[in-house]
Amino acid sequence: MYYLGIDLGGTNIAAAAVSEAGEILGKASIPTPHAGAEAVAEVMAQAARAAAENAGLKLEEAASLGIGSPGTIDPERGVIQYWSNLDFQNVPLAALLREKVEAELPIYVENDANAAALGEFAAGAGKGSQSMVAITLGTGVGGGAVLNGKLYTGFNYAGLEVGHFVIEHGGRPCTCGRRGCFEAYCSATALIKRTRELMQDAPDSKLWELAGSLEGVNGRTPFDAAALGDPVAGKVIDEYVDYLGCGVASLVNIFQPEVFCIGGGPSAQGETLMAPVRYILNREDYARNSVHRTRLMRAQLGNDAGIIGAALLPKFR
Ligand SMILES: [Zn+2]
Repeated sequence: MYYLGIDLGGTNIAAAAVSEAGEILGKASIPTPHAGAEAVAEVMAQAARAAAENAGLKLEEAASLGIGSPGTIDPERGVIQYWSNLDFQNVPLAALLREKVEAELPIYVENDANAAALGEFAAGAGKGSQSMVAITLGTGVGGGAVLNGKLYTGFNYAGLEVGHFVIEHGGRPCTCGRRGCFEAYCSATALIKRTRELMQDAPDSKLWELAGSLEGVNGRTPFDAAALGDPVAGKVIDEYVDYLGCGVASLVNIFQPEVFCIGGGPSAQGETLMAPVRYILNREDYARNSVHRTRLMRAQLGNDAGIIGAALLPKFR
């Protein structure tokens, strides 16, 4: 028995055949057509069939087909309520796909951040645990939670928006309309923005040498310059890690998950990022004196987390 997973993105539709244990057996990726929901469902079916074939399996033999999708999802009805990128409104994705795959497969739809968290829980950093909170530091801060072995999404499926709890009351404006959100301080975007802000008043900073220009700054630049001893970059990183540690400790204090998983661009820095965050967590974790402590870990599956989690959705609902 195996499971099919689809990661629906604005650029590509990636599909994979996934084993019970969360291993990828075969993969396929096709560019996303920007030509309406029918066309998207058609390509999703093609990708799923190709992934099965690449694994030497038949699509009809799959236990189910799970989809991780951006936007606001109603998993109960398999509907994308809203997704701006493809201009989707109330698209009955599961029903459309059922017609295209021409097989009697149960079809599941879930928010892509939740699917990625589930993938890490099932086959990555959280493997073998009972509960995990995952955050991804990217354009924003996304994430999800698996509690007592089940994906937790809130009563209306709108959870967990881990990027949008306030970490600095009245602080930086956030894309969501609030001020001071975790995401406004700890996304990779926020890190880049803050680097640019501080280097403008520091013409001698190594940041200029490394980046060439303000536009040349990426998520690695401040880490690289800090490693060379640049004081401005050091300040950017210290501040970033401080906010990240505060956010992680706050989430740990709420959930006390067995595993706390950090993914996304900055997590590629490894212990450079993780060690100071762990230090803050050890200082601020309410359960710091307990023998049972949350394990802070890096995400292990990279971009495959979403597709694996989508495939294994029926196991953790
Ligand atoms: Zn926000």
